Amino acid sequence: MTVAQGVRRWPIHPRPRPGEALTSWLGRLAAVYRLSVGQLLQHNLGPASALLNGATADDLDWDPPLALLEALAMRTGTESGELRLMTVGGWVPWLADTLDAERGSEAFHTYTRQDSVLLIPGEAGTNAVERWLPWLPADRPTRRAARRICPVCAAAPDPITPLTATIPLMLSCPEHGCRLEAEGDIALAAAMGKPPPHRTAPEHIQTLDRLTWMGMTTGTVVLPRQAVHVGLWLRMLRTLLDEVSISTSRLRRRSAAALELIWNTAAWPPRAGISVWRPYETLSIARQEAMLEATATALDLIRTGKITTCGTLGHLLTRQSHQDVYDGDRPDPAVEVRAFVHDGLRRSWEQATRDVEEWFATARTDPAVARQIFGILTHYSRTGEEYDRERDFMIRHGTPASFLPDPEPGRFAPSNGVR
Ligand SMILES: [Zn+2]
Repeated sequence: MTVAQGVRRWPIHPRPRPGEALTSWLGRLAAVYRLSVGQLLQHNLGPASALLNGATADDLDWDPPLALLEALAMRTGTESGELRLMTVGGWVPWLADTLDAERGSEAFHTYTRQDSVLLIPGEAGTNAVERWLPWLPADRPTRRAARRICPVCAAAPDPITPLTATIPLMLSCPEHGCRLEAEGDIALAAAMGKPPPHRTAPEHIQTLDRLTWMGMTTGTVVLPRQAVHVGLWLRMLRTLLDEVSISTSRLRRRSAAALELIWNTAAWPPRAGISVWRPYETLSIARQEAMLEATATALDLIRTGKITTCGTLGHLLTRQSHQDVYDGDRPDPAVEVRAFVHDGLRRSWEQATRDVEEWFATARTDPAVARQIFGILTHYSRTGEEYDRERDFMIRHGTPASFLPDPEPGRFAPSNGVR
């Protein structure tokens, strides 16, 4: 990166860590200089300080002005593209198609019901939805959003807060396997000199959360049959969350039985006790957690073959091909269902392919994206030759060679030969 004339790098600048929220990194950065985040940004960003305009921490993690990120990039050497991925705005269009909540019902049905996992296409029907954004509040909270964090991570030296701490995507820490807890409860325990709350998350919840975290930190989620783009994973997860929230009275008998098994196994009342349907984003935190638990349970039941999927995306969650599913006893008009499923699969796959193409196109100009893709491609490289092959592949697709790092020292030493 060229540093603009007259702008000097700050002497010390800790690197952002995977999945970290912008304000978490800014807090660590400011602490180095014994400043608050406000002091650091208001007096040390040159003209970009004026863009702050009284921004709160939530504003900075939401969608800060690009000029502010560029000013930070010039002073820290971290690319602005990488900084943007530490904000909600950087996750458009993967987390949400847009941050405009006005599209309401149309946005809801496109994101959540265009495809299906458990249910046959169209079975979920339609619901009227007011202003709506996937995963996020439709209206920006006026005060700091409640954060859920890992009690073990919080006690580590130099802790970070992930961007997902304010987004109801995960229930557990992918590193420590314990349930996320309210930040306030952890702080209260510390103030009273007591140990923080600590609950180990069940294995099926950890499995789901590790997949989501893989997507949030690498851009790709490795499923039994293929790796998918995180944008497709988030839509599939949100679709499944929606399906477990639907009243069984409007579903086929087979689907209703699957939902009953899911809720019984998860040991929660059906639909987390809601009597009138509402989108996941508007539910209380306790109900959101129950819905996520039911979704993790559903994935486990699909994986172990206790329930079968009839939706356009269900095949991604099972090892066998769709044609292998025995459906001789199914009461459905199987031929029509298959035609539906086939069409849906084609649509989903075309969309995923388009997303990946766009991603590669971005890597031509954005070093952070290039490094992210390169990291995924070389993750399983066992030799320097394999590593170089992936580098050549990226360069052939238009990524400048200067964006692609050398392997870390010692990675391909003989002792690392078997991974
Ligand atoms: Zn942790």
